[in-house]
Amino acid sequence: MATLQLSALQKRYANGFVALHGVDLAVEDGELIVIVGPSGCGKSTLLRTLAGLESITSGELTINGRRVNELEPAERDIAMVFQNYALYPHMSVFDNMAYGLKNRGVPKDDIRRRVNATAELLDLGALLDRRPRQLSGGQRQRVAMGRAIVREPQVFLFDEPLSNLDAKLRVQMRLEIRRLQKRLKVTSVYVTHDQTEAMTLADRLVVMNAGRVEQCGTPMALYERP
Ligand code: ADP
Ligand code: ADP
Repeated sequence: MATLQLSALQKRYANGFVALHGVDLAVEDGELIVIVGPSGCGKSTLLRTLAGLESITSGELTINGRRVNELEPAERDIAMVFQNYALYPHMSVFDNMAYGLKNRGVPKDDIRRRVNATAELLDLGALLDRRPRQLSGGQRQRVAMGRAIVREPQVFLFDEPLSNLDAKLRVQMRLEIRRLQKRLKVTSVYVTHDQTEAMTLADRLVVMNAGRVEQCGTPMALYERP
C-alpha cells in the first residue's frame, strides 16, 4: 500500500545545474507510472530522489504522506531494479534472492518460504542452485526482479531494466513485468527511453523534457492528442 506525492520538486546538483525544475506528480496506490523523455531530461535524477539516494533542493517528496528524507532506512520500503543487475557471482540464485532478507534478520524459514514462492512466480524454481554465470540473460534479469519482489516492498523503481536484453527477450520481459506488477499491485515508477515499452506498460505516462513534466496521462489519451 503506497501513494507517492511529488510537489514542486526541485533538484540542483552541487555544480549548480538544475536537473528538476519543480516537478508535480501524484502516483496512486498500485499504479504503474512510466517516465519517458530524451537523455538528460532528468529521469534518473527523479528516480534517485524517489529512492532516497539523492537529496532534493526544494519542494516535497512523500510516501504515504511522510517525507522520504525523514524515514528510517528500514522504513524506506522501496526496491529498485537496474539495467546492470549486479548479481553476486559466487552465490546461488537462492542466496542472491535471500541476501536482502538475511540482512534484515528475517527468520530462516520465512526466507525459504518467500524465496521459493517468488521463484515459482518467476519460473525460477528449477534454477535455485545455479550460479549467475550458468543462466541466460533473461533468467538473470528474472533473478534481479526476484530479488526486488521477495522483499515485498511498497514501491518498485525500475531504471531501464530491460535495455541490456535482446529485442525478443525485451518483449517477453515487458509482458512479464506488467503481469507481475498487476498481480502484486505494487506502486511502481518505471523509467525508459523505449516508446513501445512505455506504451505497453504504463497505466499513466509522464513525458519529461529538460527537467520538467511536459505531458501526463494514459497512453491512449496522449496518443490521441494532436
Ligand atoms: P536522464 O536519466 O533523463 O538521462 P539524468 O537525470 O541522468 O537524465 O540527468 C539530468 C541532467 O542532470 C543531465 O544534464 C545530467 O548531466 C545532469 N546530472 C546528473 N547527475 C549530475 C551530477 N551528479 N552533477 C551534476 N549534474 C548532473
Ligand atoms: P543534504 O544531504 O544536501 O544536506 P538533505 O537531505 O538534508 O540534504 O535535504 C536538504 C533539505 O531538503 C532539508 O531541508 C530537507 O529537510 C529537505 N528535504 C530533503 N528531502 C526531502 C523530502 N523528500 N521532502 C521534503 N523535504 C526534503
